[in-house]
Amino acid sequence: MKKKSKKIFIKKNSKPGKSGGPVIKKKPGAGPTTLKDAVEGIKKSSMDKDNMWDDQSAEEDNGAGSSTDSKRDKGKAEKFTKMRLAGSLPPYVVDLYDNAANQKESPRQFRTEIINTLFKRNPKTGRYSLIDDQPLFTEAKRVWEKKFGTDGKESYTKLVMRGLFFGNSESAGEVTEFKSKDGTCFYSFRKMTAGVETGQESSLGYTKQAKGTQQQADMLEAMFDKLDWSMPYKGTDALVVEPGKKLPKPMAAFLEKAVATQIRLGGETMLPQESSDVYDKLKKAYVESQKMLGECRHILAWKEMPDSQPVSKDNFDKFMTFVAKQTLAHHELLANGKAVVKEERKDSEVVFGKDYEQLELMQDIHSTLQEHGEEPTSSTSQCLRDITQLASIGSYGKFSNKCYSDLMRRVEPNIAVAETYKTKLHFANPAGEHTQEVLLPHELFASMFEHENEAFFRNVASDEGTRTKFWDRMRSHSHPAWENHPLLHRNIKKAIPISVHGDEVPIAGIGKQWSKKLVNVSWASLLGKTETKSTQFWSMGLVEKTDVKNGPYATMRNLWKILAWSFTALWSGLWPLTDHKGNRFPEGSIQLERAGTPLAGGFFGVVWSLIGDLDYFTQFLQLPNYNNKSMPCSMCRTTLSGLTTWSNFQVGAAWRGTMWRPDAWHAWAGRSRNPIFSIPGVSACNICADYMHCKFLGTDAVQFGSVMSFLVFEVMNEGSPEDNLAACWRFIREYYRMHQTAVRFRSMSRLTMFVRKTGGPKLRGKAGELRYFGEVLLALWTTYCSNELELHKKITLLLKSNVFMERKLTETKGQTSMEDEDADELNQACSDMLVLQSDLARHFAEHGKLYFTLTSKAHQLQHACLLASVLNPRTVPCRQTSIIITSIVTFFKHNYNKNVC
Ligand SMILES: [Zn+2]
Repeated sequence: MKKKSKKIFIKKNSKPGKSGGPVIKKKPGAGPTTLKDAVEGIKKSSMDKDNMWDDQSAEEDNGAGSSTDSKRDKGKAEKFTKMRLAGSLPPYVVDLYDNAANQKESPRQFRTEIINTLFKRNPKTGRYSLIDDQPLFTEAKRVWEKKFGTDGKESYTKLVMRGLFFGNSESAGEVTEFKSKDGTCFYSFRKMTAGVETGQESSLGYTKQAKGTQQQADMLEAMFDKLDWSMPYKGTDALVVEPGKKLPKPMAAFLEKAVATQIRLGGETMLPQESSDVYDKLKKAYVESQKMLGECRHILAWKEMPDSQPVSKDNFDKFMTFVAKQTLAHHELLANGKAVVKEERKDSEVVFGKDYEQLELMQDIHSTLQEHGEEPTSSTSQCLRDITQLASIGSYGKFSNKCYSDLMRRVEPNIAVAETYKTKLHFANPAGEHTQEVLLPHELFASMFEHENEAFFRNVASDEGTRTKFWDRMRSHSHPAWENHPLLHRNIKKAIPISVHGDEVPIAGIGKQWSKKLVNVSWASLLGKTETKSTQFWSMGLVEKTDVKNGPYATMRNLWKILAWSFTALWSGLWPLTDHKGNRFPEGSIQLERAGTPLAGGFFGVVWSLIGDLDYFTQFLQLPNYNNKSMPCSMCRTTLSGLTTWSNFQVGAAWRGTMWRPDAWHAWAGRSRNPIFSIPGVSACNICADYMHCKFLGTDAVQFGSVMSFLVFEVMNEGSPEDNLAACWRFIREYYRMHQTAVRFRSMSRLTMFVRKTGGPKLRGKAGELRYFGEVLLALWTTYCSNELELHKKITLLLKSNVFMERKLTETKGQTSMEDEDADELNQACSDMLVLQSDLARHFAEHGKLYFTLTSKAHQLQHACLLASVLNPRTVPCRQTSIIITSIVTFFKHNYNKNVC
């Protein structure tokens, strides 16, 4: 049964010797495909000093051997070291490299062979991918699994989870082990195939099998009918799938179906009271189901049975029978469990039927209905029951202090949203420790998956095609955060891109000296398609001036830590092993029990966009201040003046070459230390300039204000500036009416709408009003301007570019990323518009006027447009939050000024 580990390293014909032969250059990327090829390659090639790669093993080898070594590919060797350091090499490769190699004649040469065989270089991109499905490694994997599967003293099952569950580099070791309550050990490590990452699981110890008979085949068919699975195949008794060869289609289809069923069952398994008998059984069934899930995936991935036997009709039948049986049993248990849960809920409800007062009330309503000629139906009865229940809280209002708890008791069983995470934090005002609640993203994510599955897919996960398309776009159009992102080592099929949005909103004393603001952080899936209300999820808020600012007790920093911890769990897709302080969960707690298990059936969230306005970036994410002359941008190293000035809006501007790359940013001493950047893969490259703040409330406000000023003070001659403005307003109103403009200014009767006490003109108004004003203003301007004047022509062009941008955005509404052509046009228009604006600004400055002044918001706008081919600026929404904030603020029962945001 147990194979000797030596057996795997097959032929020893990789003898050193044949030195000094001609250097045969292997084609880059064409790594040896079989062991034999690899060995042949080694024989032929010779040592090249330049490619000599020093590592620990080099020292272990004796010097004589090295001169006859085969050539070690330098790039591959570097990749190997990097991956090893990151803990992302499959453990059996590490084992092969560290231990098995020592038994070779020349350990170094064997290691070279491992390195050269393990990676494939893509000649197009120059990137290396890990290919471990070659004989050398598949054998090693098997032996490694055997070794580790049988060496243990406990007889545990082993689930080797690749990629899917192992992305957090902090916990990276070769293998991560965690133990569930029932003693099952899980091992995790990572696998990657040819650039397309796939996460797979495999396991050993599958023994429960029955002998196949005709009777059994009939039974199997009956079971399949119940499960709505189809028979994988009929006849072909002698079928044996050669290891590594393709599985017959029906077989694979069956496995896919079984996998889907297990995932669904896993999601549906909700547990009744812990003490009950059903609970234990259901839990067992769940564990079994997860195990089978792994085994099905193993067969799919490795084309072999979980116990490493080749797939034949015989053993596949046995396997299916077992899976079908277990699944049916699980189904039944689940039905039982649901019944028990229902029963439990019933028990906790008070029986109102006997209550005389209620009957009386129902009688009253019934007779009222009849008086109005309406016949009560069963649904009115249900309504009545609900109303009466509501009326009955606090013993029909007798005890007002009991109302809340009564209400909650009745409502709570129907609330499926995760509870808030409660933690003690230090505050400055009122001073001391207070409980702070946070709605943890990973918990909300999991509870949505579990209880609101349909909504989860609609608002968060979307379908696999959409997810794959999204990540393909990030790769093909090189989103700045894509470079070396840890997602490269994971299965993207279940990866959900997440945006984290922060914003400050006044909640009290608006416009007053003592006004208070509330900072909110919420998150959304970048794939959510439905309305904002249902896709944006609030997670935390903090009232301004109540927090401790600095030191270890700094309130905001600790809140960020909690959030970063939660997002890291969401990234791993697993329930966290510790709380946010790194403490293990208490014995017997649900947190401990589920620690390390998938939190949403393998789905995980990747923090992909950090969204907010410039103030938020500076104040809360500790990113460079936009007023800073030497570093006004958090996304690149542009400067106020000099060669890399942001005021160069041309397509070939020098600052465009200074954009941050993830690794460089993390190595930079001046980077933000906000814990959010400790989430795997998150860096300044994930920052998304907020189009709304940069354009509508930024450059648009200045452009429109300047055009209006220029019109009423210099161009028009209807009388006084006020008369001119009145004429403008008549035009605008008429335009609004004719074009059915969606969002309109309500009035524009005063010059102070755009004239300011200090600084140049700037049009006041909400984002929406400004957004729809471009078209109107273009029409107004072209009515009064002169086509002969160069200056006027420039303004016309500026407004045209502006309107063009808005039209592009409207056209591409609903697209997560813009098509290349659209994105190029948008960028060109943006660049044209800003170049014209800076021209105009210079012209008016020469005449002592502060028209068309530029701020670094113009630069941020360019960043937003530059990203358009990967992330449509429309998916970087800010308007969204106003909706949530409305509800939060209602919740806080404070005044809320609708003019905000
Ligand atoms: Zn920049």
